Amino acid sequence: MVALLKDSASHNNESTATKKEKFLRAVKTLVKIYYPNIRLDDFPSYKLVRDRVVHPIGILVSIVLSQNTSDKNAGIALQRLKERIGNYLDPNKLKELSAEELEEIIKPSGMQRQKSRTIINILREFGGDPDALMVEDPVRLRERLLRIEGVGPKTADVFLLFVRGYPTFPMDTHIRRFLERMGIGRRNEPYEKLQERVLQLLPRDPKFLLAAHLAIIIHGREICKARNPLCRKCVINSFCPYHKRNKAQEPKR
Ligand code: SF4
Repeated sequence: MVALLKDSASHNNESTATKKEKFLRAVKTLVKIYYPNIRLDDFPSYKLVRDRVVHPIGILVSIVLSQNTSDKNAGIALQRLKERIGNYLDPNKLKELSAEELEEIIKPSGMQRQKSRTIINILREFGGDPDALMVEDPVRLRERLLRIEGVGPKTADVFLLFVRGYPTFPMDTHIRRFLERMGIGRRNEPYEKLQERVLQLLPRDPKFLLAAHLAIIIHGREICKARNPLCRKCVINSFCPYHKRNKAQEPKR
């Protein structure tokens, strides 16, 4: 009996190790393929970080604009905002806009009333202390961001990873779908619980986590689509339990 339990424990350890290895190899492959060819216009907030010409509050605003919409529409709204208050997205100029003006400017991103309120809430919290976004301890900053109505964990984590270089892993719908298909997470699993598991599986290197975040999103948009994922074309299908389960039924495309 003891031997059996030992066998089963070592088998579990082995399968956990294998699962972890496969997942890591899959993510590294995606990073290698997608990250060097990333189109910055597809990620407006990341583009702002790379351009280094926008106030940190402006970057946070751009992340809010990208909530529940395509990057194309978020990019249009962001461009309209820049045309109105300048490329730097100075918080003092943002503060001069009324809620209605802000709504009108950011309309292309959708949910403009809610987003306008969130931006005003951000300005209330950080407008008088904008440096806090760059100097506050990241864990405390995350708590502070999450207390702002309209700022959720994904928005806070994108800011922390992109701008502060903090080793966290923001998850959007593409990433959650990918994790589910790779057997790492379950549908509707709480954000923090899933994130903690992923962070145990990936290296705690902010540069790698950033590259992985962006690469998985591109993979989700182009190959691992919500409907009819292109599994036969997928470069990591040999690591993927979803493909293993479904390959007999997958259309030959
Ligand atoms: S094999 Fe299919 S389900 Fe698995 S990661 Fe690739 S596209 Fe997604």
